[in-house]
Amino acid sequence: MRTNVTLEEALAMLLKESGTIEAVHVPLLDALGSVLAENIVSDMDMPPFKKSPLDGYAVRGEDTEGASKDTPIILKVMDFVPAGYVSNKRLGKKEAMRIMTGAKIPEGADAVVKFEDTKYTEETVTVYKKYPVGTNIVKAGEDMEKGDLVLQKGEVIDAPEIGILATLGKAYVEVFRKPRVAILSTGDELVDMQQPLVEGKIRNSNSYTIAAQIKKLGAKPLMLGICSDAIEIIKAKLNSALNWADIVITTGGVSVGDHDLAKEAFREVGAEVLFWRVRMKPGTPIAVAKKEEKLIFGLSGNPAAAYITFEQFVRPIILKKMGRGNYKLMEVKSILESDFTKASNQNRFVRGNTYYRDGKYYTRLPEKHSSGVLTSLMGTNSLFYIKALTGPYKKGDEITVQLLNHPEVLK
Ligand code: AMP
Ligand code: MG
Repeated sequence: MRTNVTLEEALAMLLKESGTIEAVHVPLLDALGSVLAENIVSDMDMPPFKKSPLDGYAVRGEDTEGASKDTPIILKVMDFVPAGYVSNKRLGKKEAMRIMTGAKIPEGADAVVKFEDTKYTEETVTVYKKYPVGTNIVKAGEDMEKGDLVLQKGEVIDAPEIGILATLGKAYVEVFRKPRVAILSTGDELVDMQQPLVEGKIRNSNSYTIAAQIKKLGAKPLMLGICSDAIEIIKAKLNSALNWADIVITTGGVSVGDHDLAKEAFREVGAEVLFWRVRMKPGTPIAVAKKEEKLIFGLSGNPAAAYITFEQFVRPIILKKMGRGNYKLMEVKSILESDFTKASNQNRFVRGNTYYRDGKYYTRLPEKHSSGVLTSLMGTNSLFYIKALTGPYKKGDEITVQLLNHPEVLK
């Protein structure tokens, strides 16, 4: 087991120790937010036929030759093609067909004239200018051509990708399975929120915060509830968690107190502790163990520490397991709007609210910074990363912040 590792070492170790989960077939809409595990090649042209992009008249370009305001040309209307229907007639010389948006261009026609640019009756349509061949005709395959590699393995499925897959008739798609993440909160002082809050106890909030963080990433949380500081109970809960989950998270019991049993429990269920304690604040006591392909994260019980260490260490692992290529938080330069004078010989993440105005980012810091304070995480959309032995920082200084709600870093 390594101890007192740097942030970078810890993350590198974790990324090395975790792979991607297997692929599964899911109904199309369930694939939203997942990563595609197959290449998608179009088996058709889209649109499959030449179509009209507007309501008007399908004509032959050559019939409009010489048409002008003063010398209009009158064509005979011989059919009507609404969207979804096809005309079985062929357009002949000096003929036109009334056509609706999305309808297939009839045989013989090679241009479409807008309604607004014509005068028409039931039988005739008058055009006032020349329409070169191809005017207002959407080509077959304008959007996708047969044989195109439209989506690649590794792409994240968002709303447009869902639409593309629907266009191609993919009712089921192959994606990397969403990781199952079990959460166990340990501590004799904890009660579940439905239980009476007797003296000396506090309600378990960590399980809920962390379950929400997991859900936001598109993975599947399972709350195993609370567990007292008793090694046999922690072991039993860990064993059942390891049966179901791809990743297990515990909170509490990773410090050096008498009741800090997490690491011991990890070892006793057969996991190897990779590291304990990272040189960062908050969340220093984090411990991570590995059993077979599964990582067990022992996070500090302090609510803000658990939240921030989740974002730094658990989030990238969940994303990697889901098949994502980019799991770094987006970083931007920002201007500090408050002083931060606290000196620290540790790397530190300070919660901030970052906003954009007139071409620049600005970051406000909350008043409370303690790792036991959950309320100042409200409105925190970014973390100000302070390297050890730097600072103090003053209002107006340029700083670097990680944006918590920007899941993607562009390739
Ligand atoms: P620990 O990491 O066990 O030393 O706990 C650190 C602090 O976090 C203590 O003040 C605990 O009471 C608090 N804490 C531990 N677990 C939770 C939890 N699940 N929800 C809220 N606070 C917790
Ligand atoms: Mg404790």
